[in-house]
Amino acid sequence: MIVVVGSVALDKVKTPFGQVDEMLGGSATHFACAASFFTKVGLVAVVGSDFPDEHIDFLTARGVDLSGLETQDGQTFRWEGYYEYDLNQAHTIDTQLNVFESFKPKLPENYKDTEFLFLANIDPDLQQAVLSQVNDDVFSVCDTMNYWISSKPGSLTDLIKKVNLCLMNDSEAREFCQTFSMLESARKLMALGPEAVILKKGEHGALLFTDATHFAAPAFPIEEIKDPTGAGDSFAGGFLGHLAKTGDLSEPNIRKAIIYGSVMASFNVEGFGAQRLVSLTNDEIESRFDLFRSITCF
Ligand code: AMP
Repeated sequence: MIVVVGSVALDKVKTPFGQVDEMLGGSATHFACAASFFTKVGLVAVVGSDFPDEHIDFLTARGVDLSGLETQDGQTFRWEGYYEYDLNQAHTIDTQLNVFESFKPKLPENYKDTEFLFLANIDPDLQQAVLSQVNDDVFSVCDTMNYWISSKPGSLTDLIKKVNLCLMNDSEAREFCQTFSMLESARKLMALGPEAVILKKGEHGALLFTDATHFAAPAFPIEEIKDPTGAGDSFAGGFLGHLAKTGDLSEPNIRKAIIYGSVMASFNVEGFGAQRLVSLTNDEIESRFDLFRSITCF
């Protein structure tokens, strides 16, 4: 099982290919949907009383355990953003934390002995509150974004010190580590504590760094891109989903997990929000994984 804490949101998104309002989104949502193709996921988050039942039904149908999802009086988290032709760059217009401002996560008992924990992009104080409630042997991975790098750098640093693996976008790593070099960013992040760092480069793939090795994976080239929102979280869902399903943390398997991450991100961008995952099948995931091998092997 993987436990994830992060945002469950209603997004308003505009891309060069269309726009959608009040769409199911959030870092924990995108992660849980992608990871649910591989393993059981327990979701820790809060939504407001305005959160539509149809989204609860969708997550339940995907097999996501919602016993850690609270509903509070008030409004659900909302994010509004747009992309221009450079789809790697999300431009935030508005972030409304709403019910997340007073959220005090309390993990269901059966989540506390989870083997895998994903601290998806949300307030680093909340990420730490969840990390402190699980067992010490957990394999923990964190993600973040520029919003938290600029508003809570101290708390984010404290969090990174405690996790096994840190995920970040290339531009966020540059901002947080104050250096242009990806290699130096990774070294600075590992110096804080994590054994490994994955730097996501959007449509240019992802880089894995450990003390011993580097691994570079391209992104899967696709024909029809609609909306990159949630690609990073879907990448994390495929990545950690594969690790949890196999229970194998060896380096060759971590490389394989990065390819599953890239596969899930590539499906995610083919539709707005999590739409493409509604019809996605395990066969499609496996055949894209095989295709990925053939385009990168030389
Ligand atoms: P990404 O995988 O980076 O594209 O994540 C996109 C999701 O992050 C969107 O569905 C948003 O609802 C969510 N999001 C945007 N800003 C924040 C924030 N400051 N904290 C938590 N989640 C956010």
